[in-house]
Amino acid sequence: MSILEKLGITVNPKLRAVALTGAGISMESGVPIFRGRGSIWEIPEARRLASRAGPPWNTKETWEFYEWRRKLVSQCKPNVAHYTLAEMEGYFENFWLITQNVDGLHKKAGSKNILELHGNMWKGRCTKCGRVVELLETPLASLPPYCVCDYALRPHVVQFGEPIDRETLSQAFTAARQSELFFVIGTSGVVSPASQMPLLALENRAKVVEINPNPTALTPYMSLSIRGKAAEALPQFWKELLTSVDIS
Ligand code: NAD
Repeated sequence: MSILEKLGITVNPKLRAVALTGAGISMESGVPIFRGRGSIWEIPEARRLASRAGPPWNTKETWEFYEWRRKLVSQCKPNVAHYTLAEMEGYFENFWLITQNVDGLHKKAGSKNILELHGNMWKGRCTKCGRVVELLETPLASLPPYCVCDYALRPHVVQFGEPIDRETLSQAFTAARQSELFFVIGTSGVVSPASQMPLLALENRAKVVEINPNPTALTPYMSLSIRGKAAEALPQFWKELLTSVDIS
């Protein structure tokens, strides 16, 4: 049976498509995930620095942890899965990329319609005047970096328990609700509200396809689960979708 028969859809540029990505898509680029084997917490220095970071998040200690992460990611390049998603954006007339990642690799790969649910480690935010500024250089000249209003910036990254930017979230929910084809790539599906989005897509009778080497909390609901690494399985699946190669 072909993928198209399994999914019961005809892929064409008019399909409203959405991809939700998590830390797993950047794993092949060398960015560690958050849970399980290969996670950032297996690195003693990450644990040490993270234990010193915390509210109000604009301290030297918090930035030391973020500078460690920023340096690591600065040495990483987008992988073929990031590039495939950029290609998919070019194919579909209506395509949204919802990401939980903060590493900026989707933008580097050429994606444009990106909704960054959890912010971006290459930006800082002033909690006094509200400015969001790009901080692309690493190492930064000062820790913490300062806003033009002379207040210490915090990383523009959503911490556990903090709300997601309302506009970004609303756009992501709308995209998920209206989608007809929804990809879930490299996420454990345990962080809400991102984990609700594939379920909203299902309510719209979208076909939801998961790509992950391991089963996840979302697996039981999927129209199709592909067990594999994003950098291998996604480009292959995309090619098969376009050419409708027999996979049975
Ligand atoms: P997670 O760490 O909870 O789960 C990662 C998932 O990726 C797992 O299900 C794992 O099986 C899968 N995976 C591992 N290797 C893979 C591969 N090669 N290809 C595809 N999938 C693979 O990540 P999450 O669900 O994104 O939630 C973690 C939270 O931590 C997010 O909120 C995110 O903001 C943050 N985070 C971001 C980054 C990043 O920006 N790259 C990295 C770590 C954590």
